[in-house]
Amino acid sequence: MVRELHEEYGIIVSRGTCYNARSWARKMLQGSLNEHYHMLPCYVAELQKVNMNSTFQLEVEHDIHNSLARFNRLYICLESLARGFLEGCRPVIGLDGCFLKTKLKGQLLSAVGRDGNNQMFPIAWVVVEGENQASWTWFISLLMTDLGIVDGYGWTIISDQQKGLENAVAGLLPNAEQRNCARHIYANWRKKRHSSDILRNLFWKAVKTFISNKPKCEVIDNNMSECFNSFILPSRSKPTIDMLEYIRTIRRALEDNKHNCRACCVIHAGHLKFEVSTHGEGFVVNLRAQHCTCRYWAIAGIPCPHSIACIHFIWAGPANYVNEWLRSKRYINAALRKPSGMGLAPVQKERFD
Ligand SMILES: [Zn+2]
Repeated sequence: MVRELHEEYGIIVSRGTCYNARSWARKMLQGSLNEHYHMLPCYVAELQKVNMNSTFQLEVEHDIHNSLARFNRLYICLESLARGFLEGCRPVIGLDGCFLKTKLKGQLLSAVGRDGNNQMFPIAWVVVEGENQASWTWFISLLMTDLGIVDGYGWTIISDQQKGLENAVAGLLPNAEQRNCARHIYANWRKKRHSSDILRNLFWKAVKTFISNKPKCEVIDNNMSECFNSFILPSRSKPTIDMLEYIRTIRRALEDNKHNCRACCVIHAGHLKFEVSTHGEGFVVNLRAQHCTCRYWAIAGIPCPHSIACIHFIWAGPANYVNEWLRSKRYINAALRKPSGMGLAPVQKERFD
């Protein structure tokens, strides 16, 4: 921002002034962070109204001195996602947490599944005060109810050894298989000077021998949860409701990408392969393989701006290129097309603005 102001307008402005100006602009545009917390009960009521069988649990603490309610935690599990996960994904759940980047802090914990194509499938998420055994226990208990999990038998939980998570899983899901992210374990192991190629090969061979073959899932890292965290990265510095809306609506990702594709220049190389250049960078898109070298499409299941430019080139619709799992009727129909029924119904934000 400092550089842009200097280059565009020839003005020298300090970082502090820029920071304040940006905070003011955000406050004017999105309402203050505190106001969003005040609006949460109305937001949850509105979500509940249009997503009848979904679970939204808002937990507040009452101050005994002034009878004010203070936000504590919020759990969101949309019925369409829970149902889609149970019907179409393997019984493998990745659990992870990430920090919220606003002044009020807090953390977002998420449960993410994998579809048959190894793509990310968000199941449920919570905003909590921080990552600890109590918050993980609260989250997992609610998740177990929504997914009908009893003691974890037949389920696999993948995590990164977060604070309190291991104990929470052991207490609530004693019969689940717990896989710790092998990439993190290897990174720690490597720090202890076990970095030779022979040891590295032995490590990865050994890891595979310890995992169960029941869930038919060979995954030994928590990449899906990390993908989810990076997918929602732009929203983590937004006020709470804006962030929750960002996560709730996959449609926004597709719409954003459609908007951003305007800067892409497409050259058709035959057989549905394209060269795309934008902002000085080049990418190769293969529509038949549903792949772009930026890898966003493969990871998120939603066409990236480069791919959308190519889809427009052949006069097709980007929604038809969203990954099958993300647009099957059990998951995304409602988000992309139907305004009712399956759970991702539009919410009338003006009600609580
Ligand atoms: Zn791309």
